[in-house]
Amino acid sequence: MKKIGILGSTGSIGTQALEVIEKNNDLKVEFLAAGRNIDLLEKQARKFKPATVAVYDDNAAKKLKVSLADTDINVLSGEEGIIEAAGYGADIVLTAIVGIAGLKPTVAAIKAGSDIALANKETMVTAGDIINRMCKEYSVKLLPVDSEHSAIFQSLQGAPEGSLKKIILTASGGPFFGRKADELAGVSAADALKHPNWSMGSKITIDSATLMNKGLEVIEAVHLFGIGPDDIEVLVHRQSILHSAVEFSDGAVIGQMGTPDMKIPIQYAFTYPERGKKFENLSLSDIGTLTFSKPDTDTFCCLPLCVEAIKKGGLYPAAVNGANEQSVELFLKGKIGFLQIAELNAAAMQNTISKTDFTLNDIFEADSAAREYVLSKV
Ligand code: NDP
Repeated sequence: MKKIGILGSTGSIGTQALEVIEKNNDLKVEFLAAGRNIDLLEKQARKFKPATVAVYDDNAAKKLKVSLADTDINVLSGEEGIIEAAGYGADIVLTAIVGIAGLKPTVAAIKAGSDIALANKETMVTAGDIINRMCKEYSVKLLPVDSEHSAIFQSLQGAPEGSLKKIILTASGGPFFGRKADELAGVSAADALKHPNWSMGSKITIDSATLMNKGLEVIEAVHLFGIGPDDIEVLVHRQSILHSAVEFSDGAVIGQMGTPDMKIPIQYAFTYPERGKKFENLSLSDIGTLTFSKPDTDTFCCLPLCVEAIKKGGLYPAAVNGANEQSVELFLKGKIGFLQIAELNAAAMQNTISKTDFTLNDIFEADSAAREYVLSKV
């Protein structure tokens, strides 16, 4: 029986992870943590009976404590509560909190020796080198959940060391594929939230529309697979069936295909190296055609911006990520236009003062400075 802790259980990834656990008798929920959606968290707690639940919002945590008074479930509150739960030493901790808010609990889980099922890409984007060092020190496995990185990880099973030459990272192209900047100036948050293939949380859905998500994934892949950004080719693949592929030294290309369903990579992270239950049938004859094309990086300039950030290294990835979290929040609130997201992210990155040797504190400072910069320009 593997004990699983879920950071972000009420979100898109968190709820799908619980569906996976429900289908696998050898997986058990150890703790659940969320931001403030206590109605759903209470239902999850009653159904999956974890030892502990943690809620970021203190008032919501107080209310949940009252609602769960008839159970023996321990209720923790605030960021400290989330970090405490993450550090309980579950066999696997799924990091599915959105944004850099996922970083500290992930660090706590690693220090407790839990393997990490990594959905929260912002952790690797902002602190990839530090996380990789910590995983080595605490003998912790990093199991990718992002569908592209899971596909790369699956394609690399059994590959001899040094044989990976290139990663082919696929992108759906998002809802605005084919449009030019003049056609994007007036798009609303509601337009941007209509993803063609995936149903996800609002932040990552906007990141998919700007291609920032693909840029963050390039940075994540650099850290997860130890490959340079120039050896990662991003291809737009509208059908989202080939989730990514790798090219080996002899030119052979191996990829992983499947329906666009996050339960497959979530389950693989939980059951690795075993294969779990089947969720959906992929019928290639029904799909018929798979297409691939180069992304339009002039229009969707968040992608090259992230490549620039990882090439510069230091605190630039943390800064561009922090700026993006802030600008996406402003866009979702209708305070800035779609094209301003990329403009503000680029300006905040140029304004960053970086360092070669840095700590987690420096990362949080770079994140705050980039957010403040974005706010100062609106
Ligand atoms: P959602 O917005 O759907 O869910 C976010 C979760 O995080 C919710 O449970 C939310 O709680 C919780 N949360 C937010 N802030 C805090 C906080 N400060 N402390 C504790 N919990 C918090 O996001 P997704 O599930 O879409 O994405 C989660 C992560 O997974 C992101 O990093 C994303 O990039 C990554 N990812 C997502 C994919 C997807 O298909 N959705 C695919 C690949 C990666 P509450 O709702 O209670 O406020």
